[in-house]
Amino acid sequence: MAEIELRNLVKRYGDGFPAVNDVSLRIEDGEFVILVGPSGSGKSTVLRMIVGLEDITDGDLLIDGERVNDKAPRDRDLSMVFQNYALYPHLTVYENIAFPLRLDKTSYPEDEVKARVDRAATMLELGEHLERKPANLSGGQRQRVAMGRAIVRDAKAFLFDEPLSNLDAKLRGQMRTEIARMQRNLGVTTVYVTHDQTEAMTLGDKVAVLKRGALQQYASPQELYREP
Ligand code: ADP
Ligand code: ADP
Repeated sequence: MAEIELRNLVKRYGDGFPAVNDVSLRIEDGEFVILVGPSGSGKSTVLRMIVGLEDITDGDLLIDGERVNDKAPRDRDLSMVFQNYALYPHLTVYENIAFPLRLDKTSYPEDEVKARVDRAATMLELGEHLERKPANLSGGQRQRVAMGRAIVRDAKAFLFDEPLSNLDAKLRGQMRTEIARMQRNLGVTTVYVTHDQTEAMTLGDKVAVLKRGALQQYASPQELYREP
């Protein structure tokens, strides 16, 4: 569980206009925050600076009050789900979900691995597909395996980068409901990037609106609806 604070965060890739321009926001412990904005507005860059995949040009990033600008990604204890959720084709659903535990510096005993994979699989309704390979799953099931892989380890926060963009509208709706349910169940701080307004207004506790790298608004969906 974690509180994440961005203080005047700036990212410049070159000499041009900054991709992220002086963004400050505070994400409370257990909160579900959506980053929304058009393509190119800086959403992924913000997320990647939080996880540590992108250097911060200026400003501070704090996790639980500690400045982590220079901390390696693996030492930040965050878990990220990418847009192109590459699963390992030769591994079963079970082994795909278990994979982060096998890599972890903590060596988990096999019964602990099993308990964690089972818990994630139950939450994501994958319990009956554990022995299948990704090729034999639907798009929505594959997406759920990717989520399982993100939640199987204890993390201070979950970060999602447009996790539903490759799904059709119907599946997207179902997954949206599942993600919201999972987040409520786990109560873990979550930052979720999307360019989809519906997702932004239905999923989160708060919505951060980005435009050309700048934070335009940061409020609950209810407050945003009330805006003229
Ligand atoms: P979004 O996620 O909202 O689509 P991005 O964070 O991907 O926005 O991109 C924000 C801006 O930064 C865009 O203008 C994009 O072209 C630029 N950008 C993103 N990644 C890089 C990169 N690795 N090198 C140079 N420019 C980049
Ligand atoms: P999204 O808009 O969904 O974030 P993009 O298609 O803009 O994704 O970017 C995909 C990848 O290309 C990202 O890793 C991003 O950092 C990189 N990228 C985006 N814009 C640029 C750019 N102008 N120069 C170099 N790399 C870029």
